[in-house]
Amino acid sequence: MFLPKSISADDRSTAQPDLHLATIAERERAILAPYAQHTLDSVGRRHAEPTQDYRGAYQRDRDRIIHSAAFRRLSGKMQVFTGDMGDYHRTRLTHTHEVASIARTVARALRLNEDLVEALALFHDIGHPPFGHAGEDALHECVANEGGFSHNKQAIVIATELERRYAEYPGLNLSQEILDGQQSRTDKQRKGNAPLLEVQLVDCADSMTYDAHDTDDAVKLGWVSIEELAKVSLIRDALAEVRRKHANLSGDLLRKALVHQLLDSQVRNILSVAGAFLAECHWQSTAEVKESSFRMGPSQEIKEQKAELEKFLYREVYRHPRILTVRAEAQSRLKELWTIYCAEPGLLPPHFRSRAEVVGIARSVVDYLAGMTDRFCFQRYEELSTRTRG
Ligand code: MG
Repeated sequence: MFLPKSISADDRSTAQPDLHLATIAERERAILAPYAQHTLDSVGRRHAEPTQDYRGAYQRDRDRIIHSAAFRRLSGKMQVFTGDMGDYHRTRLTHTHEVASIARTVARALRLNEDLVEALALFHDIGHPPFGHAGEDALHECVANEGGFSHNKQAIVIATELERRYAEYPGLNLSQEILDGQQSRTDKQRKGNAPLLEVQLVDCADSMTYDAHDTDDAVKLGWVSIEELAKVSLIRDALAEVRRKHANLSGDLLRKALVHQLLDSQVRNILSVAGAFLAECHWQSTAEVKESSFRMGPSQEIKEQKAELEKFLYREVYRHPRILTVRAEAQSRLKELWTIYCAEPGLLPPHFRSRAEVVGIARSVVDYLAGMTDRFCFQRYEELSTRTRG
């Protein structure tokens, strides 16, 4: 099985480190695999900008994403559970950080471009509207006749049109690889060139992360028990491993050990499958990645086990009566807000009023609503719906 060797005392060298890796390109050539996306090979940005010597293009993308308003607002957007259900569970922001952390770990082990992976991971959910997929479905209905709404596509709209940080152009002017990576998320069945391995990895990390943390959050909230979850083979196997190491663990520590085991086993599985393939393929460039039918992912067995867990979570958690209530309430409020703003564009902030002249009022209102946090959305609803009724 492929796994990078861990650091041991033998690795301590008395030799002087090579101090000649002065540039980002040199460092990447020394560290990254030939099938990784090297910064030097970036297509660049839509609006040309001078490069920086202290920071590579993908590091710069990461920083632009972190400093964007849309990224900050992820802290007020639900992942699965809402703010009134407690303060332990993940928000869209903490989910995003967990994805980035896991993706970077795997990237380093496979010698992929960590900077690109981190930027892609921090960007991947930036287009989520308030109230997660419930909000997405409601906004989609609002503009169903005009191309609909998808959080994956919205990320690109945010990055190219909605964020305003620079005098010279709208958007964040991210590297094309970030936009292309996100584009590939909008249609996963699409035929044609394979995405970069860095893009494929973020997708895998997203799935590993939510399977583990949704399990954690649901147990913590008492919506499902570990005993019920143990009917699912992925959990059963992880529990057996936990029990092997700690026979008498219970309560919170058992849940945490289980989540740790779930993540560790999934990461090891991806490293084992992808690592074995990449060690044998002898790819010398990303061109070979793009032409290949190889897609990074778990082994067939883990894939089936994950599908079983996701089916369980869908039934017992994502369709829990409390979530269904949140869904219904959020959807009706979002749709009502959309109707109010469309009827009275003067209520929109100036930026979205002018945007309405370019993209139409229906779309501009959706863009505005999509940017809201859960709480701000409900606040606006309270203000505007009572005003309308009054
Ligand atoms: Mg995600």
